[in-house]
Amino acid sequence: MTDDPTRLTLAEARDALAARSLSSLDLTNAYLAAIETARPLNGFLKQTPELARAMAGKADQKLARGEGGPLEGIPLGIKDLYCTKGVTTTAGSRILENFVPTYESTVSSQLWRDGAVMLGKLNLDEFAMGSSNETSAFGPVVSPWRKPGSNASLVPGGSSGGSAAAVAARLCLGATATDTGGSIRQPAAFTGTVGIKPTYGRCSRYGIVAFASSLDQAGPIARNVRDAAILMTSMAGYDPKDATSVDLPVPRYEAAVGASVRGKIIGIPKEYRIAGMPAEIEALWHQGIEWLRDAGARIVDVSLPHTKYALPAYYIVAPAEASSNLARYDGVRYGLRVPGRDIGDMYGQTRAAGFGAEVRRRVMIGTYVLSAGYYDAYYVRAQKVRTLIKQDFETVYASGVDALLTPATPSAAFAIGEKENDPVSMYLNDVFTVTVNMAGLPGIAVPGGLSDDKLPLGLQLIGRPFEEETLFSLAAAIEQAAPKMELPEPWWAA
Ligand code: GLN
Repeated sequence: MTDDPTRLTLAEARDALAARSLSSLDLTNAYLAAIETARPLNGFLKQTPELARAMAGKADQKLARGEGGPLEGIPLGIKDLYCTKGVTTTAGSRILENFVPTYESTVSSQLWRDGAVMLGKLNLDEFAMGSSNETSAFGPVVSPWRKPGSNASLVPGGSSGGSAAAVAARLCLGATATDTGGSIRQPAAFTGTVGIKPTYGRCSRYGIVAFASSLDQAGPIARNVRDAAILMTSMAGYDPKDATSVDLPVPRYEAAVGASVRGKIIGIPKEYRIAGMPAEIEALWHQGIEWLRDAGARIVDVSLPHTKYALPAYYIVAPAEASSNLARYDGVRYGLRVPGRDIGDMYGQTRAAGFGAEVRRRVMIGTYVLSAGYYDAYYVRAQKVRTLIKQDFETVYASGVDALLTPATPSAAFAIGEKENDPVSMYLNDVFTVTVNMAGLPGIAVPGGLSDDKLPLGLQLIGRPFEEETLFSLAAAIEQAAPKMELPEPWWAA
């Protein structure tokens, strides 16, 4: 079994470590070797092998004494949006290329508290703005998936493309990710992995580079539902350093995996049947409905009438908050500085050199919708639409619905370069996911099967606030019923 320990799931590795049939150092070395051979995927922006071996050695000592936390000795990758003390944190941007935080994000510190081992920092879209990882200043991530018989490079999704690709390519046992409009769920769906965006406030945002503060949430990407549940228990929790984090006990989410879903009421929102939806997505959705029905759930049709306004409203609210959050990158205190004639010129030169095209587009949109004269017409109106979207969900949940089932994305992964010059078609990727962030709800993406081109497709479950356990149970039922997702064999190592 331990011939190639990277084939173990997180739960299996945890049990092997506890049984001392595997050492964390051996497991960590196997991952470090796998990362080396996977350089063509460009998933890691920074590898931390010395740190990883030191953490693994300590974990082995604890395990030998019969001690250790719930993730003792488990090697993980960290999205490069999470500040890691003493380790560069770039947010995928030139403006933070040489930024070395003096502090650790709360979520990553909780993973280290529980014994996890850091393998390195994962590539992402610049400031998490994107759906394909192509906006990274450090080059796109190549998906480990390819269409059979083709060697065209596909996107892994974004913005957590490095996280999803690294998990799917077996370069780490799990990864942290963030989701502002779909950045955990969409890349998970594109790579045949599981990703959960928890309820807003469930995980601390402290030490995570801000994109749109009222939408951003941390969460894991993992190889299966159980592994995601294990990671969530360590990542979640109240943090006095984040005023929006919520003081609720953290369940042992793993206990929800395998729990019966009999009698659960699952809503099917008719507005998610969008015009032009490919037949294979429609078929996947029907399949998901059948699987949940077979598992004993009750299926009901529901309506979320304001769904069609979610995407336009998101692309006002998110850029508005981004333009404000990104004002801090001015070359004064940290990050890149390009000298200028005077301070105004220095700001301009620094930001022009430091930000990529997508980030500049968002800053311009955001500044525009917040400016006097347009504020009421765009920003205030988008906030009102946001309230209506939230109320749609509240109405459905008040009628007794436990969760909603939808496709995770409107298509399978596309080729690198295919949508690069068409921002609107890129934004359409988020059509099923942004509503969840606008309403602050939890959402999970779980593999449902393969497309006609033999690429992964994901289903999304949307839950009630702070009822992530229901999502884990339902996602596990789908995982149980769906054909097993066989991850790609490492062509990249050849
Ligand atoms: N694709 C969306 C965007 O570009 C969502 C990104 C995210 O969730 N971080 O804004």
